[in-house]
Amino acid sequence: MKVFKFGGASVQDIDKVKNVAGIIDGYADEQLMIIISAMGKTTNALEKVAEAFFTGNKEQALQLFTIVKQQHVNMAKYLLVTHYNPCYAQLTDFFTEVEWLLHDKPVREYDYYYDQIVCVGELLSTCIVSTYLNEVGITNKWLDIRDIVRTDNNFRDAAVNWKWTEEAVKREITFEDNNIYITQGFIGSTDDNESTTLGREGSDFSAAIFANILDAESQTIWKDVEGVMNADPKAFPEAVVLHELSFDEVIEMAYYGAQVIHPKTIKPLHNKGIPLHVKCFLDSSLPGTVITKKNIKNLPPIYVVKQKQVLVHLHSKDFSFVGDEPIIALYQIFKDIKIKPNLIQTGAVSLQLCVDDRQDKLEQLAAAASAIFDVQIEKGLELLSIRHYDDATTARLAEGKQIILQQKTLDTLQVLYRI
Ligand code: ASP
Ligand code: MG
Repeated sequence: MKVFKFGGASVQDIDKVKNVAGIIDGYADEQLMIIISAMGKTTNALEKVAEAFFTGNKEQALQLFTIVKQQHVNMAKYLLVTHYNPCYAQLTDFFTEVEWLLHDKPVREYDYYYDQIVCVGELLSTCIVSTYLNEVGITNKWLDIRDIVRTDNNFRDAAVNWKWTEEAVKREITFEDNNIYITQGFIGSTDDNESTTLGREGSDFSAAIFANILDAESQTIWKDVEGVMNADPKAFPEAVVLHELSFDEVIEMAYYGAQVIHPKTIKPLHNKGIPLHVKCFLDSSLPGTVITKKNIKNLPPIYVVKQKQVLVHLHSKDFSFVGDEPIIALYQIFKDIKIKPNLIQTGAVSLQLCVDDRQDKLEQLAAAASAIFDVQIEKGLELLSIRHYDDATTARLAEGKQIILQQKTLDTLQVLYRI
């Protein structure tokens, strides 16, 4: 069997959904486990709903949610022929779940509400696409993945309970009566049946969980680009497709912020040697990229820019060394507030961190670190990372930038600069 994952752009409008059906139809004799993301920018829209709700703007949250709701109702109305099918009842249930919550007052943490609201995007999209596929003769079974993927309650970045999930996957996905399953990625649920999410873009990872457990022959991620490229083509028109990559390379690229594949996707595939294909849903005849364990030599420079970066400058309060104790305390703080620095540079009595600009996390970090350090924060920065850097590329990309921190290994150069 094969695992497919279709991203949000592949189902963002009626023609795109029909295109997806065409692709799946080309694999008529295969057993397929298909993961489909929320349609278009639905996840972003739902994030806005969650924010409005949590900041006490109930009316605004409801209004924003109505827009999401309307988009899906329209999609179903114009895509599906059988208007009185169970899909409508199911959509209504999902809408009601969210609206019911929006009428409450927030009493728990933000991340909890985020997950309860945002998870609905994938449920709506898979419900519509699955119904459409059944209508056009691509028989499939829809699954609520929250019954199958069990996680802890670390909302917004939930960790999968592999043992529980493996049993459920093997029990539910047997390919006994049908060849195609349609389900969600990115979401799961806790022991208490509360919805969780695995982190933005997490459906690549969900797909890899199924590929691993079901010993898939391959996983394919269908995207709007030709394959994995050496830079983001929207920002760097000179970007080229990399037809072959190793898992090691891809995990590094993802770590440095390339929005190619969710970083957690690689391990489950690597562990079982399952090839990962990245293909273009706009032209499925293109070769795309294949990622395997094979070491690939002579790669061109691969570069990524992370925006909205913050430099946190920590200076020891009494001029004592940044020795083991302060470092251990600092890493404990990272763990407690769930922050992952993108770069760390240590000196004798000071330490610099580059982190994503998340106000809530920054405040917590500054508060906790100020027990040991004087804390200074500079915002509005960008972090450029170049794998397999060469002088020409480095000079071209860093030209005119006011560089404030630079770090180099044999493979990778990182440059933090003001914009
Ligand atoms: N819909 C989610 C997101 O946009 C998950 C995914 O597409 O992978 O982040
Ligand atoms: Mg996506």
